[in-house]
Amino acid sequence: MAQRNTWQRERVRDALGDTQGFVSAQSLHAALREANTGIGLATVYRALAGLAASGEADSLQSPEGEALYRACTTQGHHHHLICRSCGLTVEIEAKDVEQWAQRTAAQNGFRDAEHVVDIFGLCADCAARQDAGE
Ligand SMILES: [Zn+2]
Ligand SMILES: [Zn+2]
Ligand SMILES: [Zn+2]
Repeated sequence: MAQRNTWQRERVRDALGDTQGFVSAQSLHAALREANTGIGLATVYRALAGLAASGEADSLQSPEGEALYRACTTQGHHHHLICRSCGLTVEIEAKDVEQWAQRTAAQNGFRDAEHVVDIFGLCADCAARQDAGE
């Protein structure tokens, strides 16, 4: 079952790798359609979910509640700092967050705790542009 439509998943992975920052399934689907791949939106959604589940892609919720994806350059658990204007993404370690999450979970009797912490803001370039009134 996981091996079905493998070439489509490969294409989605490639397209994701060509993209800067986080993208929605819709915009990735639009890019694939321009390349005449014939891959449907439902397949893009499935492929992205599969890539995220297997750790080949990062997924997160935008402040608007939309699922966004990105081919990840960092192995293992990490966090993101994301510019909400241009999509610039910085991979960050957050040792304080790891300790806080472990401690908070344990204090409440939880184990096997996971967390997703991403920081949205304006990057230095976008902030400077905004200050310049552009
Ligand atoms: Zn990442
Ligand atoms: Zn920016
Ligand atoms: Zn963490």
